[in-house]
Amino acid sequence: MSIISAEFQDRLRFEKRLRLLKWLAIFIFLILASRMAQWTILRHRQYSELARNNYVHPQRLEAPRGQIFSRDGKPLAVNRLTYSIWVSPFRLSKEEMHKTIVYLEDVLGRDFSEKEESALALRPRWKWQLLARNLPMELAAPILERKWELPGIRITPDFKRYYPEGAVTASVIGYVGRISQERMSSYIEKGYTPDDLAGVAGIENSYEDLLRGEAGTEIVQRDAHGRYVDTLETSPAVPGHDLYLSLDLDFQKLAYYKLEGRHGVIIVMNPANGNVLVMTCYPTYDSNEPGAPPRPTRPVSYLNKAIQENYPPASTFKLVTAMAGLDAGINPQEEYDCEGSYILPEWKKPFMCELPTGHGRINMRNAIKESCNVYFYQIARKIGAPRLLQWAILFGYGLETDIDLPFEVGGKLPLQSPDSIPTGELLYMSIGQGAISATPLQALISYCIFANGGRLVQPHLLLHHKDAEGHRTEFVPKSRDTTLPEESRRLIMEGLKGVVSTGGTAFQAGFSKEWKAAGKTGTAERPGRENDAWFICFAPYDAPEVAILVLIEEGGYGGATAAPLAREMLDYYFQNRVRLQSQ
Ligand SMILES: [Zn+2]
Repeated sequence: MSIISAEFQDRLRFEKRLRLLKWLAIFIFLILASRMAQWTILRHRQYSELARNNYVHPQRLEAPRGQIFSRDGKPLAVNRLTYSIWVSPFRLSKEEMHKTIVYLEDVLGRDFSEKEESALALRPRWKWQLLARNLPMELAAPILERKWELPGIRITPDFKRYYPEGAVTASVIGYVGRISQERMSSYIEKGYTPDDLAGVAGIENSYEDLLRGEAGTEIVQRDAHGRYVDTLETSPAVPGHDLYLSLDLDFQKLAYYKLEGRHGVIIVMNPANGNVLVMTCYPTYDSNEPGAPPRPTRPVSYLNKAIQENYPPASTFKLVTAMAGLDAGINPQEEYDCEGSYILPEWKKPFMCELPTGHGRINMRNAIKESCNVYFYQIARKIGAPRLLQWAILFGYGLETDIDLPFEVGGKLPLQSPDSIPTGELLYMSIGQGAISATPLQALISYCIFANGGRLVQPHLLLHHKDAEGHRTEFVPKSRDTTLPEESRRLIMEGLKGVVSTGGTAFQAGFSKEWKAAGKTGTAERPGRENDAWFICFAPYDAPEVAILVLIEEGGYGGATAAPLAREMLDYYFQNRVRLQSQ
């Protein structure tokens, strides 16, 4: 019993070991098999990567933006060669990418952690994330030297816009910047990418299509780590067109520095051909740093007030009222009484004259020369609002001037129901107050139309543009012909000539007789602030070739503040006439 039992025990032990061995064998086999599988798959990947080793992809070449020059070829907006750095997660491990980023952070002294994250999230992974743009050569050089060792980066030449005159030309030239989210889709349709810059304001914006050029493409070969190997094919970028403006830089500088510290606008143009020689306002911004915060010594405004702000044109509007009056049959020799104010029975407040003591008996010529409001109140009642508004439209009020700058506003005229405008409102309108407002350029254009005998020439800044091969295209301004009644024009001209002569409101400004200037002062009342000072003139009155507007906000009397500045501008014009007339 004990022997059988011992044998049986042995057998049991043996079978147990056997089962254990069998399981062990199966276990070892499974491990080996899985290892084999792993090796095969991994090796296959590595081999196939080695086999393909290089990959080829198209890469965009930035087009140099067209440059902008003054009429005499001085640079107003130019390109400086800089570099952009891009990173792509394509075939890079997180660690490899991080190594590259850390190196770039060291060299450039910046923090790229956010950009690293967005690069890692790029889909598809061969896309590029912009890390840094506008790097000068000295910063880009060490990276360029090591680009063979840095996986996943790309360095492209880039063009940083530089404005040699900064704030002096900002209101005209504008600046380039990132495309806003609201406009992005329309730009993408035109072939822009979200990283592209585009003209945001001024000429940079209005001529974006000419300035932009066409990006090129190169087919680039890279190795498995995204390192550059070779350029296989290139279709070069087409540079944008260079623009030549009618703006005269030295004249613009003179006007800008005369305005500095006040709030105002100066425009100088040729009424005969629409060339704008000067357009400046203060305060403004620096095109090189459009986002810079204002300082106590330097306020910032993004408005080009010459075309983007409406003002009451004040007595400069009397040109229109006088013309409408003659059209309505007013006898210019007839004298009206001015006792310093005018009473309208149904109106609570008296309507004041600029001269509180009154002008006495006064005819049209002297009412223009001495800027008598009461004369114009009285003739306005005879003209009526519909006829006055008709002439306002003919002189360009209520309409944009169509200058080649963006975001122009068109002033205001009460055109809804001219027949039912209350008499009091009509009286205010007759002296350029109340329901009438205009941009400084509109007011100047009304004088250009008068100076031209009725012809309106579209004001413009572009003279011509040139493509990269030097083909030149001239800007052809639009024009509109109306003939002003010659006799009426002659009569009003006498009044405007009187303004700068003895006894005229701008006599003290000291206009040289030699320049044959004719003009009009304006002193605009604006609620809650000092009066705005206006002066508009043109010369020579028998063959006008220059028209000038000066507006000084809260400058007081037009004759005392704005006219002297206009006289300085006119002196400068005639002293530099040859240069300023050449094309
Ligand atoms: Zn008066």
